[in-house]
Amino acid sequence: MEKKLISIVVPCYNEALALPHFYKEATRVAAMMEDNDFEFLFVNDGSKDETLEILRSLARDDSRCRYISFSRNFGKEAAMFAGLENTKGDFVAIMDADLQDPPALLPEMYRLITEEGYDCVATRRSTRKGEPPIRSFCARMFYKLMDKISKTEMVEGARDFRLMTRKVTDAVLSLGEYNRFTKGIYCWVGYKTKWLEYENIERVAGKTKFNFWKLFLYSLECVMAFSTVPLSLASVMGFLFTAGAGVGIVTIIIRELIWHGSASGWPSLVCIILFVSGVQLFCIGILGQYLAKTYLETKKRPIYLVSETEKDL
Ligand code: UDP
Ligand code: MG
Repeated sequence: MEKKLISIVVPCYNEALALPHFYKEATRVAAMMEDNDFEFLFVNDGSKDETLEILRSLARDDSRCRYISFSRNFGKEAAMFAGLENTKGDFVAIMDADLQDPPALLPEMYRLITEEGYDCVATRRSTRKGEPPIRSFCARMFYKLMDKISKTEMVEGARDFRLMTRKVTDAVLSLGEYNRFTKGIYCWVGYKTKWLEYENIERVAGKTKFNFWKLFLYSLECVMAFSTVPLSLASVMGFLFTAGAGVGIVTIIIRELIWHGSASGWPSLVCIILFVSGVQLFCIGILGQYLAKTYLETKKRPIYLVSETEKDL
């Protein structure tokens, strides 16, 4: 029987310290799965350390290892897209280079797809042990909010680590948008998905590439990619304020008729003007954000640019 090929996509940004550990563990698991062929596709996302040198030497020594090196840092989303686009496997997995996504889960994931008929096996963290509490708290609030304002269901603690069939991979690739939020894209494409849970594992070496600010911007990206509710905020507030103003006008007229004297004081007026203009600017800002995204989307710029692959060796 012909062996099925499993492609493993690994986005790498300054992962020189973690890559040797990853390679060792991933090949150990690959050796356990004798009935499959493997292909490791590393995507060097403009690393500034020795990541590229390590990838070159891996590709030289092991024909299963391939790499794509970007011309600069395009971000993890772009790296994952490039990886998926260039794999040939019957099954495709995405895994971080820092072993926070344990390759040891692969045999079970593969079994669930081939024997239990799932199209995709995804993973989520059941705990956020080892993470700053404020980060966990914000992440939880974010998922709650997304649940309310988007029809696409986002799973809390979901990781990018998953194994999927060629069918699902092609479906994910068919969404060629520039502002990518892959976790939302998976939910959007659907298919029969099995969720596996595991406890958070701390990275094996090196430092995290996502600080609080970067994650915050990333979450805004997600809101704009999968919800248009913020756009209706202006209408809702406009309606409320108009109603409020109506009540105010009636009150003033009645007071004038009965007591012959309207309210004094400009401080209250200043507050009202500042408040309303603040809300207006806020709403225009939201509009601007969506417009900016639309603008970038219409430019149809490539999602990533390649400077070198293993074929150039
Ligand atoms: N990564 C990337 N490009 C980036 C940032 C991160 O390819 O601009 C990769 C990184 O090398 C790692 C994965 O994305 O393999 C997850 O990053 P990290 O472990 O730093 O994030 P965390 O697990 O702390 O959320
Ligand atoms: Mg990590």
